[in-house]
Parts: sequence; structure tokens; C-alpha cells
Amino acid sequence: MAILNDEAIVLGASPFSNTSLIVTFLTKEQGKVRLVAKGARSAKSRMGVGLEPASENHLEWSRRTGSGLGTMRKCETTRVYQRLWKNYEAMRMASRLLKILDAVLGVDEGESAHFWLLRSSLEALEAGAGAASMEGVFLLMLLKTMGLDPSLDYCAACEKRPGSETTRFDIATGELRCARCPEPTAREMHLRAGAVAAMKEVFRLTPEKCFSIRFAAPLEREIIGCAEAFLQYHGGKSLPRRSGQTSVSR
Ligand SMILES: [Zn+2]
Repeated sequence: MAILNDEAIVLGASPFSNTSLIVTFLTKEQGKVRLVAKGARSAKSRMGVGLEPASENHLEWSRRTGSGLGTMRKCETTRVYQRLWKNYEAMRMASRLLKILDAVLGVDEGESAHFWLLRSSLEALEAGAGAASMEGVFLLMLLKTMGLDPSLDYCAACEKRPGSETTRFDIATGELRCARCPEPTAREMHLRAGAVAAMKEVFRLTPEKCFSIRFAAPLEREIIGCAEAFLQYHGGKSLPRRSGQTSVSR
């Protein structure tokens, strides 16, 4: 039995028994962990808001070797994003980002880069950043933390820089094809020049700076579609479906 501790952000929680929860955290140093929070559902629990999605805690937990589920021993809440939860769009976007990370990372997977990316995005939403371009930027930065940021400078067939034309991006190889090189690729998506330029700009930036970027809505849809397809193809995980009527039609 190991006793561990770390800073951690709550990704989500679900009931485990009448009195306990299973809480999923993204820790700073130890990836994603799932812990039983005994007594968290009882009326006398003092953990309350600390186990709400996006809350940050200093955690101590125990875990048996080989087990994917640990037991929470201490949970000291260090940060709650108060303003974020008062804004519907910001709240919806934060929920989406937490679900994406939960889907993409298995237990024990994830690095400190994921933690800092998530914290930067929550801080941006808390500071009032518009939710509009957030998901596209987040997905691109997620690709970058996984070493999956494709090079978008040159056409892979003729090695020339694409101009202002729509290019094709091969999901399987991460390569770009310009309009002069028409031979089909294994699994391609169309990207307008503006989308390619915006993606390159995001890959260039740090997590602290990237959330100031805004895309035009049609480019945002293209970028999200491309990043999701690339992430699912290479990460091997399905992303959570969007809920209800607020989903983006594409
Ligand atoms: Zn070409």
C-alpha cells in the first residue's frame, strides 16, 4: 500500500455508494487518478465544493499496487473557480474540457503539461475569456502535449508552401497536400488557408498565451473537426459527445 500526495483538479465524480463518491482527478505529477471519497455524499461531509468539477485540491491518497482505484485520505481545497460557475457559456466550456481530458487520459496517464494546460484554460475562463474559440485551441494544445502537433508548413508531395488555397490534411499521416498535388491520401479533411494559419499560430504559443486567440466561427468548426479526428485516430480514444441542442452542427 502506497501513500501518495499531489495537487489535483477534479475532472468529475460519480456515486459509489449511498455515502461515497468516486472522484476522478488530474494530478500535477501523477496523471489521472480515481479515488473513493468515503463519506463525501453524507450530510455531515465537509468536502462539498472541493469535489465539484474543476476545483483544485491538495490530495493525499492510498493505493494498493496494481489497483486502478485508490482511497482518498485527505483533501484540502486550494481553489474554486467561483466566477466561472456563474457564467453559463464558461461553465459549459469548462465541463467540456474536463470531459475531453477524462476521455483522452486513462488512469495513471497524463503529464504535468496536461495539468498546466487545464489550469490555464480554467484561469482564462475565470478571467472572462470568451468560450467561443476555447475548444479548438484546447484540442490543438492537447495534441501538442501528446507530441501530435503536425507540421503544417509544406505540402508533403511537392514540398512547396501552400498559398491561399484550401489544402487537404491527411488524418493518418498528419501531412498536408496543396491544390497542385491532387492524388488522394488515406484519410483526408479539407482545411482553408485561414484554418492552417490559425493552427500554426496556436502550436507556436504557450498554454498561458494561447487562449487569447480567436477564430472566426467557420474556421473554429474546421479546426475542431480536424483536431478531434486527429486526436481520435492517433490517441485511440473516443471523445465525449456534445450534449443537447447546443452542439455545433457540422
Ligand atoms: Zn503540393
